[in-house]
Amino acid sequence: MSRPDKFIVDGKRLDGRLPDQLRPIKIEVDVLKRADGSCYIEMGKNKVVAAVYGPREAFPRHIQDPSKVVVRYRYNMAPFSVEERKRPGPDRRSVEISKVSKEAFETIIMKELFPRSVVDIFVEVLQADAGSRTACINAASVALVDAGIPVKGMLTSVAVAKVDGTLVLDPMKEEDNFGDADMPFAFLIRGGKIESIALLQMDGRMTKAEIKDAIALAKKGAMEIYNLQREAIMKQFVEEEE
Ligand code: UDP
Repeated sequence: MSRPDKFIVDGKRLDGRLPDQLRPIKIEVDVLKRADGSCYIEMGKNKVVAAVYGPREAFPRHIQDPSKVVVRYRYNMAPFSVEERKRPGPDRRSVEISKVSKEAFETIIMKELFPRSVVDIFVEVLQADAGSRTACINAASVALVDAGIPVKGMLTSVAVAKVDGTLVLDPMKEEDNFGDADMPFAFLIRGGKIESIALLQMDGRMTKAEIKDAIALAKKGAMEIYNLQREAIMKQFVEEEE
């Protein structure tokens, strides 16, 4: 993949989207029978699956916390998920993504209800096209609800990038790789309202004004994703009742 000469032509991006448009999203709940909760998400060309286990007794014992549940999050990329085969196993990037995502989920899980227990969240990237960490957080969030784990709200994640001096929502690979800045967010959404930011990362450069605009754009995108997450969960519960 080489750097495109222009990212925006006649107001449209390389894939035909407007700057404030998300990629198409598909969400399926309860896709894995052995997990307590699971979810498959496509965000554009990203394809990811999340599996949640627990709360269950934390093992080995020394990781137990007598006052609250321990949350573990493992982000993993399949070797075939990217253009150049990825070496299997954890690397610095996946360890970092797992850490920040785990910390985001720690803010929404009602941890004090399950002392000495663990909640395991596994996310597997089957196909990546930038924004895989955001797709994984969105899938994990739905899988947590599917598992019936008490949460304070939904975590909804989306990135904003800067290309040709313009902020764009939910960047795809070219915009992420060759753009001027990339800013992934995760919001805690409760009762249909964005309550707080649970994850915020940034590389590249943005002015103060651009950061403000990026937050507004990310919030708009997150609300759209949240509605789809909610819809997928509601559909699942209706099907279970039938
Ligand atoms: N990528 C890759 N090989 C890697 C890591 C990433 O080809 O070892 C690609 C992949 O498409 C990924 C994109 O680069 O989605 C952007 O990676 P980044 O680290 O920004 O994370 P993401 O945007 O996926 O959360």
